[in-house]
Amino acid sequence: MLTFELLEKHGEHEQIVYCHDKDCGLKAIIAVHNTTLGPALGGTRMWPYKSEEDALVDVLRLSKGMTYKASAAGLNLGGGKAVIIGDPKKDKTEALFRTFGAYVNSLNGKYITAEDVGTTVHDMAYVFMETPYVTGIPVSFGGSGDPSPFTAHGVLMGIKASVKEKLKSDSLKGVRVAVQGLGNVGHHLVEYLVKEGAQVTVADIDKDKVKSVCDKFGLSAVDPEQIVTSECDVFAPCALGAGINDQTISKLKCKIVAGGANNQLAEHRHGDALLEMGVLYAPDYVINAGGLMNVFVELEGYSRDRAFEKTTQVYDNLMQVYRISREENIATHRAADRLAEKRIKSIANLRQHHHGRMARPFSTLKEMTSRQK
Ligand code: NAD
Repeated sequence: MLTFELLEKHGEHEQIVYCHDKDCGLKAIIAVHNTTLGPALGGTRMWPYKSEEDALVDVLRLSKGMTYKASAAGLNLGGGKAVIIGDPKKDKTEALFRTFGAYVNSLNGKYITAEDVGTTVHDMAYVFMETPYVTGIPVSFGGSGDPSPFTAHGVLMGIKASVKEKLKSDSLKGVRVAVQGLGNVGHHLVEYLVKEGAQVTVADIDKDKVKSVCDKFGLSAVDPEQIVTSECDVFAPCALGAGINDQTISKLKCKIVAGGANNQLAEHRHGDALLEMGVLYAPDYVINAGGLMNVFVELEGYSRDRAFEKTTQVYDNLMQVYRISREENIATHRAADRLAEKRIKSIANLRQHHHGRMARPFSTLKEMTSRQK
């Protein structure tokens, strides 16, 4: 497909920037999807894409996803994303990331980047040498560091909201939660759940992680293949995406699906099927927005306490989604999209009537430019 055909097919993006440098081998694409709510924020993915078309489609899809995520989270941020075409194991150099940083800088804060799949905090430190418009930089540079405790805390709030909605309870005491995946997000979530008195079962394909978590919290584990089908109140996917698919969906024995993983539904129709089955699904991009909230606080001048406080918002955000789902009789993943679209539309209207005044982060970006390098 030709580039303009792809752009037309994948939504109304505001701006696409192709970044190229022969000397350092940079081939990257930045996509700014929508800046109605604020600057477009989204990480930089480095991946050995098979074709330029694959890279473009990925960045168009991911940047649009960020617009929805930020909007549903109630943040004054738009959606953007960048992809660098290359092998993260072989092709990383200082010059590559600094050149990419110069391209990010040329957008003057319209796009703010961060680490993502294939890039690290260390790479972002190089980007930061060329532009202030980068988040998730090391703590020593005034950044917010590892987002996963905040993501997990937001997921905990999301599980509480879901338990309130489905089981009509304000407490997690005795609630049976099956956590799939004990990585960065999963192990923090387990800790929070245990503190709340939940009855937690875990699984991971990494036996060392299972042993360490079970020993630490006195929990029992099940085989990774069995966690999806375990009898529980809440199934919390915290591993890879597409866990709710044709093979697993009919075997679910939970009342709620609420976890931190991205892209939990293999296809949209699986969300509709969960509604029909009477299983409450917490839409992934709403429940796992705690990490994005943490990065947002970095833009305002970082405070760990404020970031934790902000993640409690996930509870209300999900309650709004559940209300829309009930009132409009639609599946929760569709209700989340409606919530996000409605907010963007209402703020766009507000702008029209108030001479295009920008949301606050554009002024807080000035603070970013004054951070120590
Ligand atoms: P991670 O790589 O640290 O952890 C993933 C864990 O899942 C690993 O321990 C892995 O062994 C395990 N796993 C993989 N396949 C499995 C299987 N079939 N069964 C059981 N366990 C399996 O990743 P993470 O940072 O904890 O992220 C987890 C998920 O949350 C991902 O989908 C990620 O995109 C999403 N997410 C993470 C953050 C964050 O702040 N880290 C923010 C938003 C979304």
